[in-house]
Amino acid sequence: MSPRQHEPGVYRMPEQHCFECGRKLDAVAATQGAERDEPPGEGAATMCLECGAIYGISGELEIRELTMRERAELAGDHDAMGEFRRINRQAHFARRPAKVH
Ligand SMILES: [Zn+2]
Repeated sequence: MSPRQHEPGVYRMPEQHCFECGRKLDAVAATQGAERDEPPGEGAATMCLECGAIYGISGELEIRELTMRERAELAGDHDAMGEFRRINRQAHFARRPAKVH
């Protein structure tokens, strides 16, 4: 089994780095409730699991800065923002090594 195998709903991206924290980004996952059979395309938004920065996705699956309009739309989309907060919380716990007593 390839060590780089991904879950269903996870798609490879061209290797690139978060503009904010520099973390390598090479995969993007569909969020709950999203269409999981097709990779995200132009107009989708994604979040860096390291620092929580939110980006748009180009048709080539490359991250790009959100436009002012997209930022405003996203800020008003409570479902989307709730989903990003949920993912960020999960990522936060995943980043912290479990303490062994
Ligand atoms: Zn980042």
